[in-house]
Amino acid sequence: MAERIIPLADHRLLNTAPVVPSTLEAPNGLLSDTLARPLQDLRISVTDRCNFRCVYCMPKEVFDKNYAFLPHSSLLSFEEITRIAKIFVAHGVRKIRLTGGEPLLRKNLEKLIAMLSDLKTPDGAALDLTLTTNASLLARKAQALKDAGLQRVTVSLDSLDEATFRRMNDVDFPVADVLRGIEEAHRVGLGPIKINMVVKGGMNDQEIVPMARYFKGSPFILRFIEYMDVGASNGWKMDEVIPSAEVVRRIGAEMPLQEIEPNYTGETAERWQYKDGSGEIGVISSVTQAFCHDCTRARLSTEGKLYTCLFATSGHDLRALVRAGRSDEEISTVIAHLWRARSDRYSELRTASTEGLTQAVRKVEMSYIGG
Ligand code: SAM
Ligand code: SF4
Ligand code: SF4
Repeated sequence: MAERIIPLADHRLLNTAPVVPSTLEAPNGLLSDTLARPLQDLRISVTDRCNFRCVYCMPKEVFDKNYAFLPHSSLLSFEEITRIAKIFVAHGVRKIRLTGGEPLLRKNLEKLIAMLSDLKTPDGAALDLTLTTNASLLARKAQALKDAGLQRVTVSLDSLDEATFRRMNDVDFPVADVLRGIEEAHRVGLGPIKINMVVKGGMNDQEIVPMARYFKGSPFILRFIEYMDVGASNGWKMDEVIPSAEVVRRIGAEMPLQEIEPNYTGETAERWQYKDGSGEIGVISSVTQAFCHDCTRARLSTEGKLYTCLFATSGHDLRALVRAGRSDEEISTVIAHLWRARSDRYSELRTASTEGLTQAVRKVEMSYIGG
């Protein structure tokens, strides 16, 4: 096994408290970073906890009973999240995704959804408000989420084969319960629903074609995600990545596909349509075809740190500003400065140096920063 950095609970301490500039700017206005990428999406992690232990995300050996999850007092409150989100929206964010950890574990999440769904873009439009979930609690919560104003959900499902799925989630969670969650979300109108499958070579790649077959012709859009080197605990190796081109080849051999245009600039998934007209799949090639040049995403961690890249090694402590009584104008100015200085393009650089990079830096875990 490759030698790798053992993550410490205190990797989260590698943060910089932002300096508030003395000259404040107007608390709104579109932003563009050093690579001319606008700020358009905000992913908010509402908890660093999860009831799954997916082998590629929260491996049991690291996230065990001794793991120091954040205490409740460290979490941003719903009011704090909404206040920060509102400032981001004034700066051009149009889409907010709640994530984690498992977001449905956060108590009273519907309250936060109701608060966020009241936010409007500067031109008065509603936000695209969505959530990514392992669906373990979705059947129970779908209606309340919909009623609170959630528009749609993305569900993670790595296999339809019981043994493989249980091996991936590593807590013996059954496939049927996830499928029930998907059906219920569909029934209450939380669509269009996307299904995300992380493909890990040697673990679930034999499930690529069965998953495609199962969802072909359904209202659900299946997307295959290349296994990424996020965090420092999953022991990522390049030879366990199944390139999206191979995913498309395997499915296309049985069910012919043709590539179609993206829905919008910056869409992470490449779209492929079944030639017989029975729907489409997506492939997210974060490893083999990095899309940093179009990356418009900011991430707000569970305890209020702003990350300008999924692979960042440190965040910017917005919670410190909020709890120090700083004004909206001051926080807005800090966000503007941070986004304008942004130059992250980790995946594009990784393409050049593969595994070396993963071991050279201590990256923040995905369950903490929010996937
Ligand atoms: N718990 C929720 C879930 O699983 O949907 C939300 C958080 S999870 C971190 C968000 C997404 O990240 C999931 O679709 C998950 O499969 C994906 N993910 C986690 N670790 C990954 C990795 N190493 N490579 C690629 N995708 C990963
Ligand atoms: Fe939990 Fe989602 Fe990570 Fe799986 S991918 S361990 S469900 S946070
Ligand atoms: Fe965006 Fe960073 Fe991912 Fe590139 S590596 S797409 S900059 S989050």
